[in-house]
Parts: sequence; C-alpha cells; structure tokens
Amino acid sequence: MINEDTAIPCTTCRYCVEGCPENIAIPDYFALYNSAKRAVTDNISSQFVYYLNLTSTHGKASDCIDCKQCEKACPQHLKITEYLKDVSAEFDAGPGLPTK
Ligand code: SF4
Ligand code: SF4
Repeated sequence: MINEDTAIPCTTCRYCVEGCPENIAIPDYFALYNSAKRAVTDNISSQFVYYLNLTSTHGKASDCIDCKQCEKACPQHLKITEYLKDVSAEFDAGPGLPTK
C-alpha cells in the first residue's frame, strides 16, 4: 500500500542536480526511497541494490554538506536536505528490510 505520508513529492524535474557539489543523485534517491516505502515484501530491498549502484558514481545521501543549492533550485520547494537524511537512514546503514 502506498503510504502518502512518507512519500517524497519530487517531480523528477532534476533542476536540483546540476549545482550539487557532491554530485548527489537527488531525484533518483527520492524515487528509490518512495519505492522502498511502498514495498510490501520482506525481502532484502532491490531499491538498496539500485542505491548502491548509484553511489558508485554519485555522492551518497550522507555526503550532503547542507549547502542548500538544491533547495534554491527546486520548483517544489522541497526540504531536500531533510529528505536526504531520511534516505540516508533508509539506505546508508546497509540492505536491511524495507520499512512500511
Ligand atoms: S544541500 Fe546537499 S544535496 Fe543539496 S546541493 Fe548541497 S550538497 Fe547537494
Ligand atoms: S528540483 Fe525538486 S522536484 Fe525537481 S528533481 Fe530536484 S528535488 Fe525533485
């Protein structure tokens, strides 16, 4: 079941990405996070595997230095730095189990 309370309302416009000094794949991480929150199985999350792959070429969510360049660029005025902390809690600790 989709939990609208935990979903990050990112439109994947990608305006935030270019200015990020840490090259963090912001919209991709948000999509994986939303997908992990929707997961209904107890298998090790495939979203974690995608996350791991992305972090081989991009900064991790925890690499965010809070410069807020991305938030200035976001037309949705998302609190990207706060959401990245949620992403980090979900994925940077390891594969874990999807939380519902
Ligand atoms: S606040 Fe974090 S995610 Fe946003 S541009 Fe700066 S380093 Fe990148
Ligand atoms: S600018 Fe905002 S809405 Fe657009 S991709 Fe980045 S976080 Fe998502």
